[in-house]
Amino acid sequence: MKKAAVVGAGLGGLSAAIRLALAGFQVEVFEQGTNPGGKAGQRRLGPFRFDTGPSLLTMAWVWDELFAAAGKRREDYLKITSLNPVTEYFWQHDRLSAPSTPEALARAFADKGWAAEKTTGEWFRHIRGLWELAGPLFLTKSLHDAATWRSPATWLTLLQAGRLDSGRTLQQALEATFDDARIRQFFGRYATYNGSDPKRIPATFAMIPWVEFGLGAWAVDEGIHAIPRALQKLAVELGVTFRFSTPVKAIVHDHGRVRGVTVQKELLPFDLVVSNAEVQRTYKLLEAGGKLGQRPLKWKAKYEKGEPSSSGVVFLWGMDAAFAELGHHNIFFSPDYAAEFQAMFDEGRLADDPTVYVNITSKHTPGDAPPGQENWFVLINAPHDAGPTRKIGAEALATLREAVLHRVETNLGREIRSHIVQEQVLSMGESLYGLASHKALAAFDRHPNRAPGLKGLCLCGGSVHPGGGMPLAVLSGKIAAELATRDLL
Ligand SMILES: Cc1cc2nc3c(=O)[nH]c(=O)nc-3n(C[C@H](O)[C@H](O)[C@H](O)COP(=O)(O)OP(=O)(O)OC[C@H]3O[C@@H](n4cnc5c(N)ncnc54)[C@H](O)[C@@H]3O)c2cc1C
Repeated sequence: MKKAAVVGAGLGGLSAAIRLALAGFQVEVFEQGTNPGGKAGQRRLGPFRFDTGPSLLTMAWVWDELFAAAGKRREDYLKITSLNPVTEYFWQHDRLSAPSTPEALARAFADKGWAAEKTTGEWFRHIRGLWELAGPLFLTKSLHDAATWRSPATWLTLLQAGRLDSGRTLQQALEATFDDARIRQFFGRYATYNGSDPKRIPATFAMIPWVEFGLGAWAVDEGIHAIPRALQKLAVELGVTFRFSTPVKAIVHDHGRVRGVTVQKELLPFDLVVSNAEVQRTYKLLEAGGKLGQRPLKWKAKYEKGEPSSSGVVFLWGMDAAFAELGHHNIFFSPDYAAEFQAMFDEGRLADDPTVYVNITSKHTPGDAPPGQENWFVLINAPHDAGPTRKIGAEALATLREAVLHRVETNLGREIRSHIVQEQVLSMGESLYGLASHKALAAFDRHPNRAPGLKGLCLCGGSVHPGGGMPLAVLSGKIAAELATRDLL
């Protein structure tokens, strides 16, 4: 039986481990932390429970398919509920409880007099077209594998590449379609789903809200952290072994072939290594494990030169009151969205008056907060190197906290600060979503899932193809496992 090591128990690593076990590998997962999930972690503050990273589940079929591959039913491991409305939006002088379908959203915009139903309907048709053209190829296949390029479906997509709308930016596309600044802000915000700027991200990415409104958005009944727990359970049932609190120090290789990993100064031999660490970290592990040849060095340099995506600052607030006007997901828009992105991407600093996202899982999972109280996960986008709180500094953090309170209280029309009874600031990693997607064909230019110039190493996770977001990380694990299976079995 061939032996595979997976470095990291993030969602991509868990997905790869399950697929490799199903393919017949003997799989061992090494995780430096104490729990599975990576960014999809959880934390408790007094009586409050918080998810510490992702909050919105989309593309539910990705999870269904993963469990089905093992002959299991997702619902026996993980319960999810369709959301409607998905998100409550608060501007300084307006509110919108966004319904969950394109048709209902178009009606809601029309009722407010912000856009004709037909305009929004045509926009959704356009972005649905983008998704249907690029989604299946882009999300489920390696773009660096000969088999993909032998497929007629690939060439059909390429022949229609002009329809991918990559020649203009998302902001330009929105300005050409909608007169209303609130709608432009509404759809422009989806650029931040992969840490990018609507003024720079190609209009191809306009498809992101199609996934949410056209295909659905869900809450996980026991919180997002239940996802990695469920995947770990399935993996264990399939014979995967987990070693937590066990950082891999090096991925050992010679003559262009990976030999294993170093853990606690010991070389453990493996036929295959799948790295779920961020790309830059993977290259550091490779440098620690042998001399890299020209090809891997070229890829390493390419990745290092790329523009990093944004990071974030998170405040966890336990609130001693319930806020009936809020939902599971809430956005408090800054009145000057352009200034926010200019601060983050041009000036490399925190915005003075940022847009604030508040996720309240206790709205859906009452056990996450005591009765009559709420758990607020408050996320603010930040420049890529401002993530770790140590780089922000206490003074800047205090200024940011005040700006966040001001924005929420102003848009909500209600005082909130006296209700914060538990508080913690989360130290996020740098650039949370790999590279920014600002180049015209950024979606197709992520790091490959097979390490160039090194046999026996595959990569998965949000920083490699097909990119960030929970379902994409899971799909990356699938692609990595498929490539490895083809190469080694
Ligand atoms: C604040 C925030 C909000 C988000 N919101 C959403 C959302 O609403 N919806 C959505 O779909 N996505 C969202 N995302 C994105 C989503 O969380 C990520 O894309 C996804 O979880 C990334 O998974 P991954 O496979 O890259 O693994 P990661 O989560 O990056 O985990 C990698 C794991 O590898 C481990 N590791 C690294 N190096 C080593 C080593 N040397 N040895 C051992 N272990 C190692 C790490 O400890 C970690 O556990 C959000 C992300 C963040 C940060």
